[in-house]
Amino acid sequence: MIDSTKKQANILGCYIDLVNMQEAVESIGNIIANGVPGQIVTLNAEIIYRARQEYELQQIINSARLVTPDGIGVVWAARSLGYQIKERVTGIDLLNRLCELAAQKGWSIYLLGAAPGVAAAAGEKLIQQYPRLNISGIHDGYFSENEQDGIIEQIKALAPDILCVALGAPRQEYWIKENMARLGVPVCIGVGGSFDVISGIKERAPEFMIKMNLEWLYRLVKEPTRIKRQLALPRFALQVLKHKYLARGRDR
Ligand code: UDP
Repeated sequence: MIDSTKKQANILGCYIDLVNMQEAVESIGNIIANGVPGQIVTLNAEIIYRARQEYELQQIINSARLVTPDGIGVVWAARSLGYQIKERVTGIDLLNRLCELAAQKGWSIYLLGAAPGVAAAAGEKLIQQYPRLNISGIHDGYFSENEQDGIIEQIKALAPDILCVALGAPRQEYWIKENMARLGVPVCIGVGGSFDVISGIKERAPEFMIKMNLEWLYRLVKEPTRIKRQLALPRFALQVLKHKYLARGRDR
């Protein structure tokens, strides 16, 4: 939601909250306390680029309760455009931190998405890590239109505090937007391929690559078919630079 009281960066028409991990989880805690359903987007450069062509996607991002900077492309763009940005807040890191807090605070979590068995395996790993975590329900992400109503009714009945949706971006963002009011879950967050990594079926980049902001390169090497998606990145960078120099020209 575009909110003048919040510190936000406008990157090619998408508004990103200039939050670090701590501020993001505090904001999510407030959403849970408040109880009004809100969508959380962890936004990367690919999706910002796509939203330039898909107005509905841009609307979804700009009406989300919290949009975090997911990925070095977003951090670079925000800094290039003169915003003070502290760190990346990725979907998987946010999910891990939320599970840690949920275990302490008694928030319940529902895991929706990924291939059959993967969300359950991710759930087991999370419980090993945070034994007091309450995972109230799990469903894979390969359901038909006919099955969808039943899944939504199940989630409603279980009334979790947090719904993690791992259908891949931006499908999960569309899905959350469409169903959030009906679900009535305070926090609905898209977490992309996080269940694949937490369950162990996919590996995350080694720590040094994460620290060097080279996670995108690791994913590209492991999954070369991502090249199509990642071609958006240089185009995104060019658009940001164009925007920056046009704005400078106007200021002169
Ligand atoms: N997925 C799903 N249902 C679908 C298509 C995809 O649950 O119909 C899952 C897929 O199994 C994977 C995740 O969505 O766990 C997408 O992962 P990816 O790493 O591609 O996430 P992104 O980079 O798109 O956020």
